[in-house]
Amino acid sequence: MGRPERVRPSWKNTIPVLIDQNTIRAAEQQIDSCEACEPDKAEIPFDYVLDCITGSDPELTDYILEQPARCPRCSGEVLTGYWRWYDSETEGRKAFVLPGTLVTLKAG
Ligand SMILES: [Zn+2]
Repeated sequence: MGRPERVRPSWKNTIPVLIDQNTIRAAEQQIDSCEACEPDKAEIPFDYVLDCITGSDPELTDYILEQPARCPRCSGEVLTGYWRWYDSETEGRKAFVLPGTLVTLKAG
């Protein structure tokens, strides 16, 4: 009673994880090409590379890159995916998912 109502989502929050330059470089070193330069081959989301390096749970993690990651082959920017909840007047609560850039990894 009389308590200010906190806006607190009842759904699961994601945890922002800052990816520093060293980690970005390490991730770039694992990339062979991206969907921009090898659209037929790229099938691994960049997030997966970061999951492996950081050991984070992809379901709970929002990656924040300290600086843009780039494809070593075409220098195109490689983006992480993210998702957000939003309220739709007609459909209720929905998740909006923006997939990350797909890449191919170096063999071995
Ligand atoms: Zn590329």
